[in-house]
Amino acid sequence: MPGKIAGRCRHRGTRTSTGNLRVRVRGSPAGGKTAAGGGFPRLSVCLGGLKPALKGNRRCGQNQRRARLNATWSEDWRRELRNRLKTVEALSRILELTPEELLALRQGTPVPVAITPYYASLIRSSAPDYPLRRAVVPHCRELESSPEEVSDPLGEQQHAPLPDVIHTYSDRLLLLVTDRCAVYCRFCTRRRLFTRKRPRGIDWWPRVLAYLRDHREIREVILSGGDPLMLDDSVLRRLLRDLRSVPHVEILRLHTRIPAVLPSRVTPALAELLREYQPLWLIHHTVHPDELTPRFAAACSILADHGIPMGNQTVLLKDINDEPETMLRLMNGLVRLRVKPYYLHQCDLAPGTSHFRTPVETGIRLIRRMYGRTGSLAVPLFVIDPPGGGGKVPLMPDYVVSRKDGAWYLTNYEGRLTVYCEAGTTRSLPDPAGAR
Ligand code: SF4
Repeated sequence: MPGKIAGRCRHRGTRTSTGNLRVRVRGSPAGGKTAAGGGFPRLSVCLGGLKPALKGNRRCGQNQRRARLNATWSEDWRRELRNRLKTVEALSRILELTPEELLALRQGTPVPVAITPYYASLIRSSAPDYPLRRAVVPHCRELESSPEEVSDPLGEQQHAPLPDVIHTYSDRLLLLVTDRCAVYCRFCTRRRLFTRKRPRGIDWWPRVLAYLRDHREIREVILSGGDPLMLDDSVLRRLLRDLRSVPHVEILRLHTRIPAVLPSRVTPALAELLREYQPLWLIHHTVHPDELTPRFAAACSILADHGIPMGNQTVLLKDINDEPETMLRLMNGLVRLRVKPYYLHQCDLAPGTSHFRTPVETGIRLIRRMYGRTGSLAVPLFVIDPPGGGGKVPLMPDYVVSRKDGAWYLTNYEGRLTVYCEAGTTRSLPDPAGAR
């Protein structure tokens, strides 16, 4: 433990003049508790102020941690799942946990903790604010809720004719086929799944199929969760086969984060299986360009070479991917891997996620920056899922300045004013300056 350092550390705790760490805890008495004061006796102290002196030791520690991590890597995805890091002890072996992370881990968060050794290996920096670390390692801010947050931010329960069956849009049916994930994302919208008590019953699947057969307007079925690729191939095959047996189901869609967090799950056998049930779209969920590793690329190649069309959804996350360069690298990288960027989501109002949310304007600005700097193929649609349901609302930068007598005054991606005249416009072009 370092000596006496007074003042505020880089994280959310403050140090007392005696060097103890004070961390504010929601619901704790004013002033919080101190590490040495009996509140959290095993809480370690942030090393930010001692960085230069400890640099050599830290690098040595990092190498040791990496060696321990390498020992748990596996190309066998089931083994990799068994070796996931879930506890303070397991995470401490590979990361120097901050007091805020320790607090969240010790108190317990609504979203479980599990990180595959593969994904942990991508956390290359020991910095607590390294984007991939923030995406998967809990932080005590998850324990705080803000007034605008709700447990079911998409209002899915209002459109659930059966448990885990969401029928928001008449022609699409969303099935939450599992509540398990390979890695649990700290910004997860469906965190309510992880705390529910009642199982959905062994007759769930026959009831889903009966509902589907009764609703001939449904032409697309989306498998989500949790992560549907957590299911074994045999279970997945049964689900897909049953869905394909319903004549009016035209398209299947499978949403997954697994290729980004457990790429060994994507085997030629899995791709063969998916190919049997075409047309089937696979939608990746990625959040940062550092997830586009050679192993992720290999997984995409297997899928694309088997003819599986792919898209991607990304949640806009503060200090993870809200910089234009980061977003461009992610979207351009996906297109190179034959994955079409599909949606960029404004972060939903799930409890304990306010530290991940950006202003809505950030997303609009990002999209404006992307047009003109990359091809439209790489630009996703920015959407908000408003609370209470009702479906996604697309948000676009506003390029229309005004319109008059068939003349449209527009700004291009550089902000330059242009005029477009519709057919049949006989009058001469108005002065663009006059249109403002
Ligand atoms: S993989 Fe999806 S469902 Fe699972 S924790 Fe992450 S965001 Fe939530």
